[in-house]
Amino acid sequence: MTLHVETPLVESRTLSLSSGRSVWLKLDALQPPGSFKMRGIGHACETYRARGARRFVSSSGGNAGLAVAYAGRLLSVSVTVVVPQTTTARAVELLRQEHAEVVVHGASWQEANELAQSLVGASDAFIHPFDDPLLWQGHATMIDEVARFGLKPDAVVLSVGGGGLLCGVMEGLDRHGWGQVPVLAVETQGAASFNAAMKAGHPVELEAITSIATSLGAKRVCERAVQWSRESPIQSVLVSDTSALDACERFLADHRILVEPACGASLALAYEKAPELEPFSTILVVVCGGATATIDQIRQWSAKFR
Ligand SMILES: *Cc1c(COP(=O)(O)O)cnc(C)c1O
Repeated sequence: MTLHVETPLVESRTLSLSSGRSVWLKLDALQPPGSFKMRGIGHACETYRARGARRFVSSSGGNAGLAVAYAGRLLSVSVTVVVPQTTTARAVELLRQEHAEVVVHGASWQEANELAQSLVGASDAFIHPFDDPLLWQGHATMIDEVARFGLKPDAVVLSVGGGGLLCGVMEGLDRHGWGQVPVLAVETQGAASFNAAMKAGHPVELEAITSIATSLGAKRVCERAVQWSRESPIQSVLVSDTSALDACERFLADHRILVEPACGASLALAYEKAPELEPFSTILVVVCGGATATIDQIRQWSAKFR
């Protein structure tokens, strides 16, 4: 038994037609807490509980915090999530719905995270949102499912925040002997920490995140993500917030699934027939999901950018 579910893998007729190639979707938006994060965080939480953890602590008001809260409820382990004052009422409500203790503290994530770290006692486990090998192991199961299905893509498209999803997908590709399959690592222009790391050759800290794709808003990617980019054919691709938002709107119409702009960024490549897709005929897009943006919010952002 795992805490995550096996998700559908479907060929998208609309995206295949609009991009002129076969586009397959790994629908991780359908994980119960709304994103792929359940895979890695579920695996990490199970492991930490087996090692004796009595409480899980997180400082994410986004999909990572939701996945920790969900895992804690299923495992009967108490969860404390410290979030900054900027966190939306909806995110706080979703966390409370999972019976997590929510502590609202500080003007920014840095301050919330500091308090969270100070709360971690000897019998608690802090659950990092992206930089933990246990998370990568869990995320890799998504590629196991693709392999079991019998589909070998000739490129994978995914979104990058702190690089946890990238590390997991690379681990999965690697263990199926698919390590040379090209990966397009997508970020929005105002959250391009992986792009900056690729240019510098090591993780660098961005001064600020200016994108509305908050789930991609890690100022610095994990070291392992940059290591993978030295060993494997990973290409960094940037899209605008407007493209990501348009993709969310179109994906909702086409597949009846609402995703965050963080996920729309990857879908935008197929919707906009990006030149980066040109060499490939069978493309796997990781539909990473995201539960924190409402359709009203997405439309408000879209209207603002027009
Ligand atoms: C966390 C998240 C990402 C980015 O994942 P990283 O592991 O931080 O790179 C992308 N999309 C969604 C919806 C997320 O929740």
